[in-house]
Amino acid sequence: MGAARPAPVHSARRPATVAAWSRPASARCRPFARPGRTWPVVGVVPWRTNSTSVAGGSLGRLEGGIPGQPSVWPVAFPPPLAALEDEIVRCRACPRLVAWREEVAATRRAAFRHEVYWGRPVPGFGDPDARVAVVGLAPAAHGGNRTGRVFTGDRSGDWLFAALHRAGFANQPTSVSRDDGLELTGAWVAAAVRCAPPANRPTPEERDRCVPFLERELALLGQVAVVVALGGFAWDVCCRLEGIRPKPAFGHGAEARSDRSGRTLLGCYHPSQQNTFTGRLTEPMLDAVLARAASL
Ligand code: SF4
Repeated sequence: MGAARPAPVHSARRPATVAAWSRPASARCRPFARPGRTWPVVGVVPWRTNSTSVAGGSLGRLEGGIPGQPSVWPVAFPPPLAALEDEIVRCRACPRLVAWREEVAATRRAAFRHEVYWGRPVPGFGDPDARVAVVGLAPAAHGGNRTGRVFTGDRSGDWLFAALHRAGFANQPTSVSRDDGLELTGAWVAAAVRCAPPANRPTPEERDRCVPFLERELALLGQVAVVVALGGFAWDVCCRLEGIRPKPAFGHGAEARSDRSGRTLLGCYHPSQQNTFTGRLTEPMLDAVLARAASL
């Protein structure tokens, strides 16, 4: 905290239009946003409507909408990407995960009982012009499933976004809510499975049903040259998506190249509390992988 912001690594490549598209919702909604008011959307791609409701102002209108949640999430992405994220957010294809994400959103953790959980699939987040994509396993029940932004609001996200900030990919080291002003430059963060699974363990069927979302997302992120897989689950998924065969063993710092896409896949221990508390993953280790990603 308090450290000067490192120079963005990839900002020179970023067209002004993309920069405008990827301005955070907070930059567009404030200072006029008030709970319960509806504003016309200018330069923002909303979910399904031409106006967006301010958080706390309306009941969810999406399938499975959570009462009290905004019916739309005014994140600014180019239209094809926004359409995909809209599709992801409305997905109810996995009955077990739909039931779990909504049960967690309804019961909530005591520390967050005053909050309205997102309780839906969590789309990817970041710079549509990213060269580096970071892929995790799935949203945490009280992290992304609560805040609506991947890796936001849990300890893993604290580690990841602090490291992205040190590497020059993020404008701030913290990530607490989807309206906290966080912007990524040159990086995209997503999960292999978009709904929070019980015990962080999606079934193989749930994984296979959801992975096409990641595949389509990466296809729309045309500048991605490096994929950082956080943990063995993401590594396996990314090897499959990138057609890397035979599958190389996962390890921290493992590196493989896809002949199909030309992308480089980097392995990184997941910044879970289990890994960070035990010292299996340290800040310098995480920094080294991101530095390698930035250098490619
Ligand atoms: S895990 Fe993926 S495929 Fe299954 S319901 Fe969630 S978004 Fe849909």
